[in-house]
Amino acid sequence: MDGQPLTDRSFTPSSNGRSQPPQTISSKDPKIAAQAATDMRNIVRRKLTGYVGFANLPNQWHRKSVRKGFNFNVMVVGESGLGKSTLVNTLFNTSLYPPKERKPPSLDISKTVSIQSISADIEENGVRLRLTVVDTPGFGDFINNDESWDPIVKNIEQRFDAYLEAENKVNRMNIVDNRIHAVVYFIQPTGHSLKPLDVEVMKKLHTKVNLIPVIAKADTLTDEEINAFKQRILADINYHQIQIFEGPRYELDDEETIAENNEIMSRVPFAVVGANTEVATPDGRKVRGRRYPWGVIEVDNEEHCDFVKLRQMLIRTHMEELKENTNNFLYENYRSEKLTAMGVQQDSSVFKEVNPAVKQEEERSLHEQKLQKMEIEMKMVFQQKVAEKESKLRQSEEELYARHREMKEQLDRQRQELEEKKARIEQGRPLEEKGKRKGFSLR
Ligand code: GDP
Repeated sequence: MDGQPLTDRSFTPSSNGRSQPPQTISSKDPKIAAQAATDMRNIVRRKLTGYVGFANLPNQWHRKSVRKGFNFNVMVVGESGLGKSTLVNTLFNTSLYPPKERKPPSLDISKTVSIQSISADIEENGVRLRLTVVDTPGFGDFINNDESWDPIVKNIEQRFDAYLEAENKVNRMNIVDNRIHAVVYFIQPTGHSLKPLDVEVMKKLHTKVNLIPVIAKADTLTDEEINAFKQRILADINYHQIQIFEGPRYELDDEETIAENNEIMSRVPFAVVGANTEVATPDGRKVRGRRYPWGVIEVDNEEHCDFVKLRQMLIRTHMEELKENTNNFLYENYRSEKLTAMGVQQDSSVFKEVNPAVKQEEERSLHEQKLQKMEIEMKMVFQQKVAEKESKLRQSEEELYARHREMKEQLDRQRQELEEKKARIEQGRPLEEKGKRKGFSLR
């Protein structure tokens, strides 16, 4: 497709309905121009002439998701009495939690935090959601709260382990995802800053879960106190390098979505108020809220608290992101660490990320080494051939000399015989000595 000329592509109609010609690339830098050309080739959009049908994909996805239903597992962490159960009931508009019996703070330091999980199928406009809320009663309630995060961390890890085990089974069709997708961490409305226990627990949790800090019972603080408290909490979170959940930003998000996400994130940590009962406002409306002698705090009124923003993030805009982040990063990190600790090794040459520049450099140096080797081999072969030729030449030279010597000796001998014969003739002596004739022997 990239090889096609640009003129073959249909133009995207402009807002006035007329087709727009392809953009021209004008840059003096040839590299920039080449990059721009590649980018343009990649992002040119085609308009189809007829209906193919894939525009219906989101609807298919929607139907499938609705049929399957959704699941969401949220954990609430915070001291008793901070309004965790009330907030969960308020969030999902359900009485998930039965009313609790209050216990005085325990002096028994041997007590531990327990983990309780409650699930409910809730339905809204035909969409089913299996909601599981994991509560951590006892957290922060004892005189000595050292290690009180331990059962919480263990529970989160056990859920990862169970998922890992399910993934490794032969049949992976129906894996139930019991991993914690978000932890709503309740901060006591002291108006000061984070407590050492809060910092400690958040540090233990932030690499394993999406952490969403909330200021509990925000109706007990004034607006100014809440704003100052939020700043101090954020400063503490930054100082201790605690990673709290941030909604991802996508390139294709429209301005409205970006503004909505920014607005949500600007309210973190959410100052929340929970209430499951309806009260009457002075102007006669029935609202979920808390009544005070000086007025009514409305839970669903964005000017009164951040409850709506927290619900928006958890349920309306970021539930899928929370699940995706859990699966793609938090669980993935845990899984790799676990498998590495178990001695499972990965051949890094198979999965390593390839940097094109480094790869090119590697290939170039390999090529050069190959050329060098070839050159050395050719030199060696050449030298060998020269040596062979030289030795052959030497040999034939010697042979020639030998022949020359032999012929010279023969000639010398012949000349000597002839001279002898000449002398005999001159002296009148017979050429052949008597008795020495061939075939006769004198006795
Ligand atoms: P949990 O122990 O953290 O689950 O706390 P609960 O939800 O049981 O609430 C403890 C008490 O705090 C109950 O009496 C609630 O009515 C009250 N409560 C819950 N949420 C709020 C709130 O936002 N503001 C105020 N002022 N009281 C709340």
